[in-house]
Amino acid sequence: MTAANLDSSELADLYRELILDHARHPRHFGKLEGATHSAEGINPLCGDKLKLYLKLDGAGQIEEAAFEGTGCAISVASASLLTDCVTGTSQSSALTATEDVVARLTGSDPARALPLDKLAALDGVREFPARVKCATLAWHALAAAINEAAEPATTE
Ligand code: ZN
Repeated sequence: MTAANLDSSELADLYRELILDHARHPRHFGKLEGATHSAEGINPLCGDKLKLYLKLDGAGQIEEAAFEGTGCAISVASASLLTDCVTGTSQSSALTATEDVVARLTGSDPARALPLDKLAALDGVREFPARVKCATLAWHALAAAINEAAEPATTE
């Protein structure tokens, strides 16, 4: 799926500008050389597929984060925002951020704040339940990478 699959009213509500900017020009895109952790994420519902890479130092700080893969505008933008958000944080903060994003976007705890102002762009996704899995995919992959999960993260 591409951005073309979204109708214009959907896009308007999804903080179109920021999402599309990150989707068209993803930050930290590509394989990360020297990665210490990685995990794949798959969203079969939409066909989004990505691999997330982390480089952790001995103290559990995330020195670098990157991703590669293909997916719809929202899945790519979310992964791009994620890599921006977690670079320079500890792995425990990254896991807390993941819980915050998933709880807020899935509605299980809508009062939970997003960990970063720029993630507000993802908040509009809550209006479109079919798109929530696109937005949370990269975060599930992040948790899988940190937890060194044996299986790819899947939204199903
Ligand atoms: Zn998607």
